[in-house]
Amino acid sequence: MIPSIPELALMRGLRPDPGNNRGCAIERRGAPERMSRPPARGLLAPMPASNPVLVRNRILSTLAKTEYRRLRPGLEQVALQENEVLYAPGDVVRYIYFPDDAVVSLLFDVDGHRTVEVAMEGNEGAVGLAIYLAGVNSCNLSIVRDPGTAMRMEVNVLTKCANQRGRLQDLLRRYVHALVTQVAQAGVCNRFHSIEARLARWLLMTQDRVGSHELRATQESIARMLGVRRSSVTAAAGRFHEQHMIDYCRGRIEILDQRRLRAASCSCYGIIKRQYDSFLN
Ligand SMILES: [Zn+2]
Repeated sequence: MIPSIPELALMRGLRPDPGNNRGCAIERRGAPERMSRPPARGLLAPMPASNPVLVRNRILSTLAKTEYRRLRPGLEQVALQENEVLYAPGDVVRYIYFPDDAVVSLLFDVDGHRTVEVAMEGNEGAVGLAIYLAGVNSCNLSIVRDPGTAMRMEVNVLTKCANQRGRLQDLLRRYVHALVTQVAQAGVCNRFHSIEARLARWLLMTQDRVGSHELRATQESIARMLGVRRSSVTAAAGRFHEQHMIDYCRGRIEILDQRRLRAASCSCYGIIKRQYDSFLN
């Protein structure tokens, strides 16, 4: 059984991790801007065609101006709240979401008592696209892990736009391939690689998507994403902390040494990153 929404709310709790709540370096320096902004409040007004909203989604920003202008009337900017469920198992996809700075996790249920993240979609992504193209209802949970904004478009409007001249159709197709690679690699990673290597990969991938070396995550939430026990994450994070690769407290993690964290990660990080870096070219 997929966890209930209240259970999912615990996944990104604001509760401090016991034992890590006294005077950490992150706290002394103060919360970064992206952590201190007010919570998202739901759907914003549809974007007027004349409104020059900054587009940070990499698929949309890669389009030629003329093609983007054609899409713009069908796009609306929305604020995605932490733990907001975009698609639950059985849902029909109505909208494709193009995150700007939000990060969405694709979670699968494991034997009814835990979940595992098979992919994360950030500003390179188009959430819901793979399910829509397959012509099926969602079989997983798509949940907002990091709040922020996204542009969304109704699927029938997107289909019309993609069938017109331009790069959109090709970009979406290539994106789905990159996403499939990420899902497949996650399967390999979960089966063959150590928790330490998987944790390093997860931190680096999250950093790439939020665009900051300071991340929001508790050890409990990471354990649920990786499908492991919290004590395993605590041990791995503790080793990274001892080696001054990360700092953490109160649901925040700071990456101090990206180069060494990358060395500690498995090859999956590089394989997935290359796919995502190349699909836009
Ligand atoms: Zn791996």
